[in-house]
Amino acid sequence: MAELLPFDDRDGYIWYNGEMVAWRDAKLHVLSHGLHYGSCVFEGERAYGGTVFKLTQHSQRLIDSGKILGFDVPYSVAELDAATMAVIRKNGFSDCYVRPLAWRGSEQMGVSAQHSRINVAIATWEWGAYYSDLTLTRALYQRPAPNTAPVKSKAAGLYMICTICKHDAERKGFGDALMLDYRGYLAETTGANLFLVIDGVLHTPAPDCFLDGITRRTVIELARQRGYEVVERHIRPEELENVQEIFVTGTAAEVTPVRAIDEMKFQVGPITSSLVEDFRALTRAQPVAAATARAS
Ligand code: PMP
Repeated sequence: MAELLPFDDRDGYIWYNGEMVAWRDAKLHVLSHGLHYGSCVFEGERAYGGTVFKLTQHSQRLIDSGKILGFDVPYSVAELDAATMAVIRKNGFSDCYVRPLAWRGSEQMGVSAQHSRINVAIATWEWGAYYSDLTLTRALYQRPAPNTAPVKSKAAGLYMICTICKHDAERKGFGDALMLDYRGYLAETTGANLFLVIDGVLHTPAPDCFLDGITRRTVIELARQRGYEVVERHIRPEELENVQEIFVTGTAAEVTPVRAIDEMKFQVGPITSSLVEDFRALTRAQPVAAATARAS
């Protein structure tokens, strides 16, 4: 196995509460509310040719996620956009992944932490394909109901069950887990949305208890531009029997075909291939990074 470069021991810079901090110095105290009680939200973004795809939508979602958890991210969308571009440039990257996050600090301990500081950091690193030859197995946990968790927030706490499910899938020799929702309908993987092709029509689970991904919405648009019919609805797992193609979408995953779900095998079909191509063309056609981004 290739030697892993730990994420706390690298060269470069991380934007941290308004400053560019040397990578190894971007630390927090162990008594941080975000660590103990999950009061943390984050984003995942990708830059192509120095420009972040749908940057403003991601910055807005970070702020919205914080609001759902009851806190105000202390930067505007424009400030987050500028800080993101600045940290990418400071690290000298062009094609990279970006990870902004916001969390409650160490001013107060206990479930209530009304007066804690909201910290914000933005890190970036070069990250290739998230999945290779993706295979899925049924997940151990289901996505929670909207009245049991803040399902519309990209909240760190929601990923607790995702890591358990993904580790279980990997132990069984699969790439990721296929999660059902609280009613037993198909939902998503642990980090990407799901699309099925049934008789030439695209079907995708209605995102009423999980993230309506920015890539998902982009791919729906691309599919409609191609003239494909797209149906958002509740999908029963038994319907997988009738599926000809299946793929997932996400910032890290981009558009990735699924090759198997447990014992069921799938080919990479023509609709999937065309959308992989259209998404690649769209992201590679990004304008060059705005010259106005400040290196602060
Ligand atoms: N679902 C989950 C659980 C995710 O983590 C992600 C990645 N952010 C997605 C869906 C896809 O969202 P997006 O296309 O906005 O990256």
